[in-house]
Amino acid sequence: MKRAFLSLLAAALVLLPAQAQLRLVRDGRMTGRIILAHPGAPGAEREALQLMLSVPVTDAPMSSTEWAMVIRKGDIVLRDLDRDEAAEELPEDAFRLTVDSRNVTIAGHGKALLYGAAEFLKRLGADYWGDGEYYSPYLRELTLAPLDTVIVPTFRYRQSQNYMLASDPLYKVWYHLEQPSEIFAGNLWVHTCNTLLPAARYGKDHPEYYAWYNSRRNPGSASQWCMSNPEVLEIVCARLDSLFKAHPHHKMVSISQNDGSDTYCRCPECSRIMEEEGGPSGPILRFINAVAERFPDKEISTLAYLFSVQPPRKTVPRENVSIMLCDIDCRRQTSLPETPSGREFMKALESWAPICRDLFVWDYGINFDNYLSPFPNLSTIKDNMLIFKDHNVKMHFSQIAGVRGGDLAELRSYIVNNLMWDATASLDSLERRFLTHYYGQAAWPLYKYIKLMEGAAIGTDVDLFIYDSPVSYKGNILRPELMRRYNALFDEAEAAVAGDPVRLARVRRTRLPLQYSALEIARTDPDRDREETRTALDLFEARTREFGVEMLNERHNTPAEYCALYRTRYLGSQEGNLAAGRPVRFLVEPGAKYRPIAAQGLTDGIYGGATFVENWIGWEGCDAAFVLDLGAERAIREISVDFLRQLGAWILMPEQVRFSLSADGESFTEVASVDLPEDRGNKVEFIPVQASCHEQARYVRVDIVGTKTCPEWHYGVGNPCWFFIDEIVVR
Ligand SMILES: [Zn+2]
Repeated sequence: MKRAFLSLLAAALVLLPAQAQLRLVRDGRMTGRIILAHPGAPGAEREALQLMLSVPVTDAPMSSTEWAMVIRKGDIVLRDLDRDEAAEELPEDAFRLTVDSRNVTIAGHGKALLYGAAEFLKRLGADYWGDGEYYSPYLRELTLAPLDTVIVPTFRYRQSQNYMLASDPLYKVWYHLEQPSEIFAGNLWVHTCNTLLPAARYGKDHPEYYAWYNSRRNPGSASQWCMSNPEVLEIVCARLDSLFKAHPHHKMVSISQNDGSDTYCRCPECSRIMEEEGGPSGPILRFINAVAERFPDKEISTLAYLFSVQPPRKTVPRENVSIMLCDIDCRRQTSLPETPSGREFMKALESWAPICRDLFVWDYGINFDNYLSPFPNLSTIKDNMLIFKDHNVKMHFSQIAGVRGGDLAELRSYIVNNLMWDATASLDSLERRFLTHYYGQAAWPLYKYIKLMEGAAIGTDVDLFIYDSPVSYKGNILRPELMRRYNALFDEAEAAVAGDPVRLARVRRTRLPLQYSALEIARTDPDRDREETRTALDLFEARTREFGVEMLNERHNTPAEYCALYRTRYLGSQEGNLAAGRPVRFLVEPGAKYRPIAAQGLTDGIYGGATFVENWIGWEGCDAAFVLDLGAERAIREISVDFLRQLGAWILMPEQVRFSLSADGESFTEVASVDLPEDRGNKVEFIPVQASCHEQARYVRVDIVGTKTCPEWHYGVGNPCWFFIDEIVVR
C-alpha cells in the first residue's frame, strides 16, 4: 500500500518543475517542523499538533515547535482561523489545505483544524482501524506537488456509534465524529418530551397537557403531548429560555416526541389540525414553529419518526427548524428505493428535502435485538448516503452495531465514518484497504465471506430488519449450504494468520456472529446434536469472554447470561414432560399472526429466544385461556408456563395465572392461582410461572389475566400490550 501510494505521487510529479515542489521528507526525516501559527496557541492548534505527533509518518521523531518567529522551508503550519483577524469564511467543519514551494499550511476554524491535520496524515498514507490500532506509513522520501484546496464534508454533522469512541479519544478526532452533547443544549437531542414537561410533575394536576386517545388523557413518562394546548407551549418556552441561559454557546435543542408508536393526541383540536394537515406531523410542526418564532437566533430540532415521518400538507418548517428524519421501518438488504418500506421513506425524504433548510437523517444499520447477528448491508451504505446528500441532508447519524463483537464492528465503523465525511469515496477501495491492513493474510477469505453473504441477501427473499433473530434467516442468508461455505472461509482465514496472534484474535472476534447464529438456529432444531451444540456453546462463551463482548442486544443481556440460559433452556432434558406433543384447545385465540403455529407451538418442546418472531405465541390487550389434553388420566406434580418479557416490543408480564384440572374436560377444579407483581425489568427475560400439586387428571386448563394496557411508565402508555408464552410443561 505504501509503495503504491508513493509511486502514484511520483507519477503526478513528473511534469512539475523541481522548484514548484516541496520536499517534505528526506532520508526518513522531515525537512521542516510542525509549527503553530499563533504564539502560545491554546486549543485547536495545539490539539492538532498533538494529533500529528501521535501518528508519526517518518522514521525519525517528527520535530515540532509551539511557535516560531520565522517560518522555514519545509515547515507544516497549523492555523486556527478563529485566531486570525481577517479569517476567511469556510463552510462548517471545512478546512483549507495549501502546499506551495515552501510550506504546507492547514487552516480551519477550531475543530475543523483537527480534521485538517488528520486528513493530511491520511493523504500521506496513515490510517486508523480501531481501538488504538492505526497504521503509519513511515515515509523515507516525500515530495509534494503544489495544492490549494478547500475540503468540505458531505454532512456538516456526523455521528455514529462504536466501542472505540469510548476507549480511544483519538479515534473520534481522526474520523471527525461529533456527539449530540457538543451541539444540543443540555444534551437534549432526542425523545425530550418528558424532560421538558415531566409527567411526574404535571401529569396528575394537568392531564390535559398529554395526549388523548382510547377515550382518555394519557399522562406518563413516555407520553406525547397535546400539541394544541397553549399552556404546554408556554411551559416549554420557559424551560428552553432557562436552558439556553445555562448553555449560552449551544444553538440547538430538540423538542421531540417520546419513543413509541400510535401515542399521539387525538383530542378535537389536534384532530382538526391533523385533518387540515393530513397527519400527526401537522400539530407537531405547528407547535415547533411557534417555539422557533420565540427563539429566532436558536435552532429547534424535532423528530419525523414513526407516526410523524410524512410532513404536513400545509405547514412548512421555519428557517430555524431542523427536522430529524428516521428510516426506522425500512428493510436493509438493498438500498432504500429498492424495497417497498424504503420507497415509503423516500416519499418522506423527497417531501421534506425542499422545505427543510437543515435536514438530519437518522439511519439504522443495526440489529437491536441481536447485535451479534450478521447484518449484510455494507453494500447499501454508500448508495443511501448519496441519496441523503442529494436530498439536501446536512446532518447524519448512522446507527450501527458498534459493540465489541458486533457484526464486522470495526470495518463497519471504518466504512460509515469515511463515507459520512466523503460519500463519494470508493466503497470497494475502503473495504479492501481496511481488510488488507487489519486482517493481513486473512483479508481475501473474509472479503469473499462478506461478498458471498451480500450476494445471498440480494438474491434471496430475506427481509433484513433491525429487530430480528438469526433464526429468521435460516432459510435464506444463513441456510445450511451457505453456513458451510462461510465457516470454510473462516477456517481458511484463521489458518492464514495462525502465526500472527493479533490478527488471529481479530479474525476470531469477527467470527462470533457466525457462531452465535449457529447456536440460535440449533436451538430451534429438534434433531440437533446436543453434544455438538454444547461444545459450540462452550467455545462461544470462552471467546466472548476473551474478546470482552459486553452485551448481545440493546436490553444489555450479557453473553454469560445467554450461555447459562441456553444450557438449562435448550440443552435441558424434555424427559418426563407429559405435555410433549399433546394437543391444545384455545378458549381465547392468540393474535392472528400466531394462530398458524399455535396448535403445536405450546407443546413442541422448542423454546423461543429473545426475539418474539419465532416459537412464541402472543395475545394482545386481552386475557387468555387454553386447555391441554394429556390423552389419558395422569398423575400431575407440577405445571409450568413460560413467559417472555421484552418491554421494547410492548411485551409485558401478565397479572395472574391460574391452573385448573379436570378428568372429563368439562368441569375443572382450580389447583393454583399465581399473582404476578408489576415487572419493569429492562432486560429480555424468560420468566416461568409454575404450580405444584398432587392430582390425577387428563385435562389441564390455564387462565391468564393479561396486563392489557401499557402503564404510564411504558412507551406504549394507554395502548394494548402483549404477553407471550412458548411452552407448557407438565410433570
Ligand atoms: Zn390534543
